[in-house]
Amino acid sequence: MSRRSDPRTYDLDRLREDVLAEHGGEVDDSIPQLASADPDFCALALALPDGTVRSSVHADVRFSVQSAVKPFLFALALLDTQGEALDRIGIEPTGEAFDAIKLESGTGRPPNPMVNAGALLTAALVSGDDVAARDARILAGLSAFAGRALEVDEHVARDEHLLGDRNHALAHLMRAEGALEVSADDAVAVYARACAVLVDVEALAVMGATLALGGRNPVTGEQVVPPDVARDVVSVMATCGVYDGSGRWMRSVGIPAKSSVSGAIVMAVPGRLGAAVVSPPLDEYGTSVRGHAASRRLSDDLGLHVFGDP
Ligand code: GLN
Repeated sequence: MSRRSDPRTYDLDRLREDVLAEHGGEVDDSIPQLASADPDFCALALALPDGTVRSSVHADVRFSVQSAVKPFLFALALLDTQGEALDRIGIEPTGEAFDAIKLESGTGRPPNPMVNAGALLTAALVSGDDVAARDARILAGLSAFAGRALEVDEHVARDEHLLGDRNHALAHLMRAEGALEVSADDAVAVYARACAVLVDVEALAVMGATLALGGRNPVTGEQVVPPDVARDVVSVMATCGVYDGSGRWMRSVGIPAKSSVSGAIVMAVPGRLGAAVVSPPLDEYGTSVRGHAASRRLSDDLGLHVFGDP
């Protein structure tokens, strides 16, 4: 008989309490709003195919989505370019940090859509003639994934834009290689605003579920992206979503996921559910320490590892 727990009754508060005992990691300090995050903030949520969203306490506390936005930017870019984005961006893991100043050797393309170079380009490839139009398109698209209207934290967006020197460097490098058509500053502006979108774990779990369930939002019923786009995105999350920690993550948790510097992790378990966890202290790969521990337990307890039980 299975010793698995049922996601409909699983005790998320108990899991949260257990992982709160972990005290490793450092809060990101790239912008003031992230540096001042409460290191003991932790919340979890699950979004199920019938539209049920289950969560721990503090599931309504908002934070900037940061790199957890990257799978959804990739999805919107694939949709808006009718797949041409796949010719413009690689899909191979880099084994390097998320903000490495490096493009794919030989092609000059960003290596994959889950690192900053790739996300700067996917944000530039969504439909819209200028920064405001692309920003509006991205916000509407992210809101459709979440099943509710999301908004940008203007202070975070401004500081991401002002202080993101490595992103400016990457955008200029992509211009020099002919990979980026819009201006470097416009590319950073749109990407910075996408990173600054405010979510909570419930919204993020629904976003993950929409990818896990073939592009259909289980709460609203809206087909946000076609199944082939959702599958492409989840595939690249599996191989590249946790940067140079993706192999380690896949072995221990076994769920396609995307990490972020706000300490959020969004997960898509194909055909089963979406999940999200947030807690700001990060390990050396930029992954939430408690988020990793909680995801591993969740995967074990609910039998979510895509390669099966040991
Ligand atoms: N805003 C951050 C950056 O571009 C996002 C990085 C991340 O979450 N890993 O530097």
